Amino acid sequence: MATYDYLIVGSGLYGATFAYCATRQGKKCLVIDKRPQLGGNVYCEEVEGIQVHKYGAHIFHTSNKGVWDFVNSIVEFNRYTNCPVANYKGELYNLPFNMNTFSKLWGVRTPAEAAAKLEEQKAEAVAALNGREPANLEEQALTLVGRDVFQKLIKEYTEKQWGRSCKELPAFIIRRLPVRLVFDNNYFNDKYQGIPIGGYNKLIEGLLKGVDTRTGVDFFQEYKDTWQDTADTLVYTGALDEYFGYRLGRLDWRTVSFKTRVEDMPNYQGNAVVNYTSHEVPYTRIIEHKHFEMFGQEVYQCPKTVVSEEYSVEYREGMEPYYPVNDEKNNALADAYRALAAQEEKVILGGRLGQYKYFDMAPVIEQVLHSFNLL
Ligand SMILES: Cc1cc2nc3c(=O)[nH]c(=O)nc-3n(C[C@H](O)[C@H](O)[C@H](O)COP(=O)(O)OP(=O)(O)OC[C@H]3O[C@@H](n4cnc5c(N)ncnc54)[C@H](O)[C@@H]3O)c2cc1C
Repeated sequence: MATYDYLIVGSGLYGATFAYCATRQGKKCLVIDKRPQLGGNVYCEEVEGIQVHKYGAHIFHTSNKGVWDFVNSIVEFNRYTNCPVANYKGELYNLPFNMNTFSKLWGVRTPAEAAAKLEEQKAEAVAALNGREPANLEEQALTLVGRDVFQKLIKEYTEKQWGRSCKELPAFIIRRLPVRLVFDNNYFNDKYQGIPIGGYNKLIEGLLKGVDTRTGVDFFQEYKDTWQDTADTLVYTGALDEYFGYRLGRLDWRTVSFKTRVEDMPNYQGNAVVNYTSHEVPYTRIIEHKHFEMFGQEVYQCPKTVVSEEYSVEYREGMEPYYPVNDEKNNALADAYRALAAQEEKVILGGRLGQYKYFDMAPVIEQVLHSFNLL
């Protein structure tokens, strides 16, 4: 007789939300994770009194009131609003592209002046194509925003991200480049956004309250062939190809790496997110973690600060699999694995690794709440 209704592999937001919902329905769950701590990619480490987003900066945003009310019922969220800044060779620009960006770039003061400048530069790019379609990302971006925005804010940043020249990248990567003719630096269009007060670990602790958990346990070493002895149903949120022993081949991933350090000053860059859009520096962004949770004078009450440089790196085996690669080859392989998954009895493959799909946090929670008819 199995002791648990569910064995949940992975304590990220998918696994933790699943455990929360199942437990509320009177089911017994065991959550295991191969990492030494719970929380998956939203796990934070406290350094100098600051919650450091160890696996990459995470900003919660959603327009779904049900999801927002759900997460706030577990832990209250703060008022953080994502307003990234771009640093191009020491010049600072607000993102996303909006009236603040254009006024700094061209000295324009009204939406009409900005629109005229944009149209003038877009027309130049279209004329240069001589009637043909954009053949690469560079040509595509130039027709969407013109040369100044492209040169200073897109070109080198994109090249750092992909490790290739914009002329070698396909045009379809950038279909749209939203431009706002208002003074609005709020990156997300969603109705709700913020960070859990006290950090994401509070959210995970709240979701997993009263649930049995084990860390430092790899499913493949301890449970793969015998999980039915432990639970009636398996909820697996690890990598899809790994579950099937890579029998159809390996899926590709993209990853990022971080160099984190403590700075002996209260305020390093005045903002949580600064993108470095030139080749002059090798990293793509610097995250200053305290600005996710400290506002105004609070920033100065904490004497030190923690910053992480973020680098785009080529994925190799053994690295953290962060982003699925949605090209034809990988999509076809993932579909073949999904067909195998559909034949598995009493096994649910969930989350971003298990489904080989990029999901923000809110859609992951939404999926689980839907599956329990809680939305
Ligand atoms: C760099 C980065 C930045 C992001 N920023 C944002 C953001 O700003 N806003 C946003 O909404 N979303 C963001 N996301 C997306 C967010 O991280 C995901 O939506 C969320 O983590 C999905 O949760 P999950 O449970 O599916 O996966 P995960 O959090 O990855 O959890 C999976 C867990 O399974 C465990 N596991 C895997 N294999 C095994 C095994 N064999 N045995 C035991 N345990 C195993 C892993 O250790 C891990 O803890 C970001 C993602 C990345 C990669």
